[in-house]
Amino acid sequence: MISIQEQNLRLQYFNKMLKKNDLRITPQKNKIFEEVSFTDLHPDAQDIFEKVQKKFPTISFSTVYKNLKTFVKIGVVTELDLGEGRSRFDANMTHHQHIIYENGKIDDIILQASDIPNLPKQFSNLDLSRVDIHFFVKDKK
Ligand SMILES: [Zn+2]
Repeated sequence: MISIQEQNLRLQYFNKMLKKNDLRITPQKNKIFEEVSFTDLHPDAQDIFEKVQKKFPTISFSTVYKNLKTFVKIGVVTELDLGEGRSRFDANMTHHQHIIYENGKIDDIILQASDIPNLPKQFSNLDLSRVDIHFFVKDKK
């Protein structure tokens, strides 16, 4: 669950970034963003489309998808490819890693810097920009 306070922070950031990128704020865009950001389920485009369609029955999948891609581009949402043949979307923009259960459930985890591996020595001249770690685990018993 995402707290109301966190939801408001995400919405504020969303509105700020839309303005910064000269993008119009529309009720449809807002609803799409809410469906990604007011949950910690890491929904895919189809999940989001189905939720948005309840409020905006004429909206197309491609409109929802294009908006999600725009949100990724302006940095309010990240796209996660977990090798499932579909992308998931995540509005938790604080740096975190993921635990992925066999049933598709995902938990966010924050690792200490000391828990994040460094590049092997032969690559130490490279400038690391980010590290994404996905732990694939069996379902909780
Ligand atoms: Zn996440």
